[in-house]
Amino acid sequence: MHRRHVLSGLLGAAALPLMRAPVFAGAAGTLLIEPVRKSESEWRRLLTPAQFEVLRKEGTERPGSSALLHEKRAGEYLCAGCGLALFTSDMKYDSGTGWPSFTTTLPGRVNTRRDFKLILPRTEYHCARCGGHQGHLFDDGPPPTGQRWCNNGIALTFVPTGAGGAAPDARSSG
Ligand SMILES: [Zn+2]
Repeated sequence: MHRRHVLSGLLGAAALPLMRAPVFAGAAGTLLIEPVRKSESEWRRLLTPAQFEVLRKEGTERPGSSALLHEKRAGEYLCAGCGLALFTSDMKYDSGTGWPSFTTTLPGRVNTRRDFKLILPRTEYHCARCGGHQGHLFDDGPPPTGQRWCNNGIALTFVPTGAGGAAPDARSSG
């Protein structure tokens, strides 16, 4: 018990400050994303029950329920689990589906995987840092990508430009 406490203390210090942890470009220009791993009970403590259901249990929020559907300001959309910026407002569009939708993501910020929860396989995607489920990727989006990143609004935190909250990252240098 004591050892475990010391260990978690060390990990906690290394991971701080979680919500504003910057993402740095590596020497070769690759994105270095330090994984955020937490136990189920830790996530339960950090997230609201609705966020936990989506981010950690791959739930899907009720369509039309997210306030972010109507968010039109310039800014960034961060993972609600760990604060990693996943999308910018430039990538958002109105898909009419009832879920916040984007035509692409910030490079390297999400990982995808095949999901067989429904009869037809879908492409699930999740935050590259904390593994939190965000949504599903479809190929019926608008040009130029033709992609629809269909995201649960509850899995995102919107930070308007100029709010001083957006995590600085590698994009500003290039
Ligand atoms: Zn995350």
